Amino acid sequence: MLLEDGPGDGLPRGADNRTLYRKVSHLPPRSQVRMRSLLTRRRVVLLILGAVFAGLFTLWRDAITRNRSVADEPFHIGGNLYYVGHTGLASYLLTGPEGHVLIDGGFPEHGPLIARSIAELGFDVGDVKILLNSHAHSDHAGGLRYLQEVSGAELWVSEGDADVMAAGGRGDRAVGPARFLWHLGALRFDPPRVDRVFQDGTVVRLGPIELTANVTPGHTRGCTSWSFPVRDGERLLRAVSICSLTLFPFVPLEREAYPGINEDWRGSFRTLRELDADIFLASHTNWARLHRKRARQLAEGSGIAPFIDPEGYLDFIRRSEQVYLDRVEPET
Ligand SMILES: [Zn+2]
Repeated sequence: MLLEDGPGDGLPRGADNRTLYRKVSHLPPRSQVRMRSLLTRRRVVLLILGAVFAGLFTLWRDAITRNRSVADEPFHIGGNLYYVGHTGLASYLLTGPEGHVLIDGGFPEHGPLIARSIAELGFDVGDVKILLNSHAHSDHAGGLRYLQEVSGAELWVSEGDADVMAAGGRGDRAVGPARFLWHLGALRFDPPRVDRVFQDGTVVRLGPIELTANVTPGHTRGCTSWSFPVRDGERLLRAVSICSLTLFPFVPLEREAYPGINEDWRGSFRTLRELDADIFLASHTNWARLHRKRARQLAEGSGIAPFIDPEGYLDFIRRSEQVYLDRVEPET
């Protein structure tokens, strides 16, 4: 079609078309007509395929956006620890007399939902002084910009994830070839301001609140599992929130991700096993069966007890490690 749309002499527009025209113009007249119609048909097919792909992508993105805006009930886990996440994407609030700490901001549209959950629990989002993150993916970091703006809190990000966080999700090597999805808006989020960059073992303090950064890389280069004490009456329990042990499908670990990713994964399983968790938390609620535990807490009036789950914690690590080993062994 473009051939006919060219300038008055029938020439196509654009450098590529000019090249094609040169090729066509060397052929005898009959072959020229056939070649032109072939080129036209090919363009029409490409246009149709492009339109179908764009339509399907839009439908997929809209469906995902709808499904990820399901508000969860906020609730008290125990001590100074609260759940304020949405759509099964965990956000945890640790409260204290000198201000609060919030771990993770969910998807971009979760920012206002998290702020509302904090208010429903009787706290002021303006008292959140420190924002932390498990990893710089749009489902855990997407709402941080909004939450930073409404609270004025400082955002601490691990060294391994700082660049991706500051770029709104762009350039994440751990997702391999799926990086191109960022350009389609799928992994993208409004970048928050990165106030502090930390390394493995850093302790974040705010009054009596104390969290240790355990960098457990693999899912992202700076994936951080946070550990912290939670006081329950006389007892001091240890909570660990696992960043993520999910492997991306279709990403050959050494070739498409980043060099050293396998050592990172092995080290992360080791680190998490040694952390000695009483309270099993994670960046996705289903990994720690958090809502099931909440239902038990409500039914039994048992306070923090259902969330004390060291066996579930170790079992999750064991199962995730097996998935990793099954995947990596055929590769090496
Ligand atoms: Zn992730």
